[in-house]
Formats: sequence, C-alpha cells, structure tokens
Amino acid sequence: MIKSIAILISNLNKTNIISQAKYTTSVLPQFSSEKYAVKRKNFGILKSADVEYFKSVLSEDRVLTDESDVLPFNIDWIKNCRGQSKIVLKPKTTDEVSQILSYCNKNRLAVCPQGGNTGLVGGSVPVFDEIVINLVHMNKIISLDDISGALVCEAGCILENLDNYVRDHNLIMPLDLGAKGSCHIGGNISTNAGGLRLLRYGNLHGSVLGIEAVKADGTVVDCLRTLKKDNTGYHLKHLFIGSEGTLGVVTKVAIHCPALPKAVSLGFFGVENFENLLKLYKSAKSSLGEILSAFEMADNKSISLTVENCKLSNPIGDYPFYVLIETHGSDETHDSEKLNRFLSQEMESGLILDGTVTSEPAKIKNIWHIRESIAGAGLINGYVFKYDVSLPLRNYYDLVLTLRTRVGDRARVYGYGHVGDGNIHINVSASKYSKELYAILEPFIYEEVAKVGGSISAEHGVGFRKPQFIHYSKDKTALQLMRDLKQSMDPNGILNPYKVLPDVPDIEKD
Ligand SMILES: Cc1cc2nc3c(=O)[nH]c(=O)nc-3n(C[C@H](O)[C@H](O)[C@H](O)COP(=O)(O)OP(=O)(O)OC[C@H]3O[C@@H](n4cnc5c(N)ncnc54)[C@H](O)[C@@H]3O)c2cc1C
Repeated sequence: MIKSIAILISNLNKTNIISQAKYTTSVLPQFSSEKYAVKRKNFGILKSADVEYFKSVLSEDRVLTDESDVLPFNIDWIKNCRGQSKIVLKPKTTDEVSQILSYCNKNRLAVCPQGGNTGLVGGSVPVFDEIVINLVHMNKIISLDDISGALVCEAGCILENLDNYVRDHNLIMPLDLGAKGSCHIGGNISTNAGGLRLLRYGNLHGSVLGIEAVKADGTVVDCLRTLKKDNTGYHLKHLFIGSEGTLGVVTKVAIHCPALPKAVSLGFFGVENFENLLKLYKSAKSSLGEILSAFEMADNKSISLTVENCKLSNPIGDYPFYVLIETHGSDETHDSEKLNRFLSQEMESGLILDGTVTSEPAKIKNIWHIRESIAGAGLINGYVFKYDVSLPLRNYYDLVLTLRTRVGDRARVYGYGHVGDGNIHINVSASKYSKELYAILEPFIYEEVAKVGGSISAEHGVGFRKPQFIHYSKDKTALQLMRDLKQSMDPNGILNPYKVLPDVPDIEKD
C-alpha cells in the first residue's frame, strides 16, 4: 500500500506549471498493464538476494525499495502510464551500470532505463516490475573544447544545466525543449529529441559526436569520440540515438555545441488562417535566410487554453493562429532590422495581422514560456491524449480539423508545433481518460497520418504507447531488421521490454 497520502513529484520541470502537482492515492493512474491489457513476459522476479547484490554494487542510499520512494519513478509525466517496479537503482558510474546490467542479464531481470522521466509515450516508466535504472547521479561534465565546441558529459546531465554551462563559454546546446529543466541529455539522445532549435541546428544524428553505452550483457561500447568526421566502419553511435533504451544504456555523450548567437530576436505574430501561415513560413525562409532558427505555430485553442489555465498574458490580441519566429545571428541591429522589415512587409501583405518583435531577454523568455507551457496546460483540465506526428506541410493542420468533427463536444482538440520540421502536436483534452474517446482517436489518427505519408511519431518516439502502430510508418523489412538488431544486442530482451517493437503476431511465428 502507498504510505503517504501526498507525494511530491520530484522530477518535474521547475518552470512547468504541473510541477506544483502532487499525487494523492485517489488520483493515481491505473496500471498500464491493466489499462492496455498487456501480459507480463517471462522475466525473473526480484528477490531479496538481488536487492542485496545491488546494495553491494551501489551504496544503500542509491537503491530505493520503499514503495512511496519508488512511486514517482513508476508514473510518467502525463500521468497516463503506471508501472509496478519495486526498485529504483541510481548508478554513479559506467562501471556500476555495467555490473547492474550484467547481473540482470544473467538473472533475466528486465530493466527500464530512465532519465528525467519527461518522455511522452510511456517509454520511461516500467510496465510491470522492471528494475528502474535512473541516471540522475551520472551528471558530471567531463570536458569542453571551446574551439571545436565538443562537450563531453555523463548521460544524466540536465539539458538546461548543460546549456547554462556552455553559455559561459560562448556556446549553446544544439537542442532546446520545454522539458529542459528536467530532461537528461541521455534521455534526449535515447529519444532523438527534436525541439525548438532543430530547424537551425539539425537533429541529434548530426550533433552527437560520440556515445558510450552499456549493452544488455554489461559490455561497455566505447564510441565516445569528439571528431566531426570518422568514417571507420559502421556508425554505431546512431544505433543508440532514438532507440529509447531498448538497445543499451547511454552513459556518456560527446555533442557538438554551436556558437552562442550574439543576437537573438523573437517575433510573435497573429495570422488569419493556416494557408497564410504556410505563406508566411515560405516568406520567412527567404527573407530571414540563415538567421531563421525557429518557426513555431499554435492555433487559437492552444494559446487561449494555455493563457487561461496557466494564468499567463498574451502579448498580442486574439487570432486564429499564432506564429513564433526566432532568429539567431551575430549582429543585433542587422538581425532585428531584418525581422522588423519582415514584420512590416508581411503586415502590409496581410499575412501578419498583428505582432510584436523583441530582442530583450526577459520578453523573449516570457513569450517562449507561453509556447512551452502548451504541452502541460491541458492536463489542468483533466486528461490529455497526446499525438506527435510528422505530416507534409500542405496537410499539416487538416488532421486537427478532421478530429474536431470526429470528437465533437467530447473534448477540446488543438494543434501546435514545429512547422519548420513538419511536426505537429495534436492534443485532445478531456475531463478524464475514457475508453470510448480512446477508440475514437486510435488507430484513426495513425491511419490518417499514413494516408498522406506522414510519421506516427515525429520526435517523442514509440515508447510503450505506439509499438502496435509502428507498422503505419515502418515497412515489414525495416521492422525485421530492427528485430534482428534487438536480438543481437539484447538476446534476452531485458532492456525496456514492451516498448518500441511490437510483439510478432502469432500468424508470423514459425
Ligand atoms: C513540457 C515538455 C515539452 C517537451 N518538448 C519536447 C520537444 O520539443 N521535443 C521533443 O523531442 N520532446 C519533447 N518532450 C518529450 C521529452 O522531454 C523528450 O523525449 C526528452 O528527450 C526525454 O528525456 P528524459 O531524460 O526525460 O528521458 P525519459 O523520459 O526518462 O526517457 C525517455 C526514453 O529514453 C530512455 N532513456 C532515458 N535515458 C536513457 C539512457 N541514458 N540510456 C538509454 N535509454 C534512456 C527511456 O527508457 C525512455 O524510453 C517534451 C516533454 C515535456 C514534458
């Protein structure tokens, strides 16, 4: 039984509105295994001798077994998934991770690697009694080369801490996301996180220079190089980028940090309709060119709900669509002139109805705060079904409209996202989870995405929530190669089971 009535969630973003949330026994989410009717696989069951072994490898305070201590590690950020782990291990070194995995592999004990637990597809929490390996204590910065921009650090470093650190050396992290105050760089890499700067700095397959990871059997794979170019054989680091803890535990990371932009400007604009928003994107690419670093959109419902629920203020009026454009450059006068010229030009053309442009850090932060709060704002109303899909830009917003008609007055449907990456987040916010609404939404959404050649997961991954839908985006041959890789790297399947790969349907078994 849960001991305390209210348990503070310790691992939420301090700047995020639901960081105030507390669990009470009455609002605990249902177990994932029951909610989604999953059968436990044939793994070993944790015994007291196992706990004693883990205590001998780690210090006692880094082995959590008290139910109330373990609870927050069993529940995901959106409180949709809940596992039943009995133990959380917090290694401090790669060697400790290696010893833990080697032992678990021999004893067929399943594990769930965990970073900041901000993942949105249930990948970061156990489904049954998997052992949680949380990397929070692997948080050392190892080196920074301020000439090449190569940062080497442990996987448990919090993204925002790394960004603050490299800023002191006139660099920035190549990625930024709303969960930066809690998510770990190891988690970012394991999910191939995209975020707000991808348009400018590319994805992690480009920025990550090297990785150290531990395989299921405890072998430490050392690909921790800091070179930009290294064509010596298979590019193994890429196996760990986006594999969501199913192929290995990432323990160290080398990542390229771009130069800190000397000038940052931000524009927040109101737009009449989605067609105009696309025209504005095209125009921004040509008018702003190399300084364009973010082009984000949110529909009216996203902003009005966020402003209302999070008690924020909208710096411009009420518009059908909003666009947020950030520029990163080296000359403040030149860049803000460019952005202001773009604003005047497009106000005259009618693509922008109203807007504000700022280079003041405090104002920039406030505007970004509105955008970053959208992800959590709907949770205040109860429950949010979250979808994160890639779509051809011409079809980008159609699915929101289709879903509004399909869902009717059962829930609020709103869309926001990274237009520059063709990635929209569609949230369906209801007072509570309901099976009826779930059946209305899934697999319908994935079918619609597949029809136009989109991806059912743009940046959040597949995790626990989407393996059964992965075939909408992955061909059978690709899925088989994924299975072969999994079999070769984790033959006992102990690493994050029930995630990413769907079970082989009975008819396909020999
Ligand atoms: C407010 C908010 C905004 C967000 N915005 C974005 C966004 O813009 N773009 C985006 O891509 N995502 C976004 N996310 C999703 C999430 O933050 C990212 O997926 C993030 O990269 C997860 O990092 P984490 O450390 O929290 O990982 P976790 O949630 O702990 O884990 C995620 C997955 O990675 C695995 N994992 C974690 N660490 C390791 C490791 N060291 N080795 C092996 N496997 C590991 C876990 O098993 C799990 O499968 C957002 C989430 C929130 C709450």
